[in-house]
Amino acid sequence: MIPAKKNKNLQISLLEWYDRAKREMPWRKTRDPYLIWISEIMLQQTQVKTVIPYFERWVSAFPTVRSLAEADESRVLKLWEGLGYYSRARNLRKAAQLVVDQFDCKIPNTLKEIMTLPGVGRYTAGAILSIAYKKKVPVLDGNVKRILSRLFRLAENGASTSSQKILWKTAEEILPEERTGDFNQALMELGATVCLPSKPGCLFCPLQTYCEAKLNGDQHLYPPSKPKALSKKIEVSAGVIWRGGKIYIQQRLKDGLMADLWEFPGGKIEPGESPEECLAREIREELGVEIQIQNKLMTIKHSYTQFRVTLHVYKCRLLKGKIKAVSCQQWKWVDSNLLSQFPFPAANKRIVDSLS
Ligand code: SF4
Repeated sequence: MIPAKKNKNLQISLLEWYDRAKREMPWRKTRDPYLIWISEIMLQQTQVKTVIPYFERWVSAFPTVRSLAEADESRVLKLWEGLGYYSRARNLRKAAQLVVDQFDCKIPNTLKEIMTLPGVGRYTAGAILSIAYKKKVPVLDGNVKRILSRLFRLAENGASTSSQKILWKTAEEILPEERTGDFNQALMELGATVCLPSKPGCLFCPLQTYCEAKLNGDQHLYPPSKPKALSKKIEVSAGVIWRGGKIYIQQRLKDGLMADLWEFPGGKIEPGESPEECLAREIREELGVEIQIQNKLMTIKHSYTQFRVTLHVYKCRLLKGKIKAVSCQQWKWVDSNLLSQFPFPAANKRIVDSLS
């Protein structure tokens, strides 16, 4: 239990700092719950400066929840291209359809209802309810966890359910009665700009006189680190197959990783196989045709959350056979200058840029 006087003073100091130091962001100029929701989903795993142009493009393409609900999925994915984690974009569209059908186009304003929307977890729900609807609901993201852990010397990193519970309870206790949306944003802002993971700027921190870790000089011990999982490495070959001035692309299946995105054909290199042998085999198995590999275009290294991929890309020519693609939804021959109209996974983006 945080002593009431300490809590009050801490709230005042943080809000005064936020009024002075907050950064300008387009979503901070509105209290429209739809726009707050879009910004919060885009900001998951993505930095503010990356999100701003995406947010602006999105708002002009889909200014209302209805316009998003009625949008074509490939247009939504195209606008999301480059932000990664495409399930976020698919969930936004599905959730918008639910809001239109079940909530009369109004984003729900209770925790119970808003959390029925796909992609809206407790953090996003807290952000929308406190910022747009001024409700007294906490938020807890990586930044807030770090601040709370340091502020109260909590040996919690949120890795277990019980640790999460303690952090959520603390985030709730620390909330003021008024300006909860600003207070939540102030915590996130402090975590993003001052209370940084490895070098907290305690000298500039409005909470330095209340922060137990700072007073003990052991900020570096909080929060305790989580054991790191090693991400898997995979090697893949992909072919840019040309035929009469056009390039072959295919749309991934509806389920699984990177569902619905477009890609160049290819696949995982088997043990003992060269990248070229892999490509010829994959094209034979998946497209039912023979190709001639002409030259290597590039090697791309890209990290996804679950794995790191090395992609060997080759320019190819169709030798013989009629394409019967079996592992995709549909396929097309497209002019190279039209490739950029299709949503591709992040690792394919460099190939598209080099061909367009
Ligand atoms: Fe973080 Fe330092 Fe502020 Fe404590 S005083 S909240 S460790 S920046």
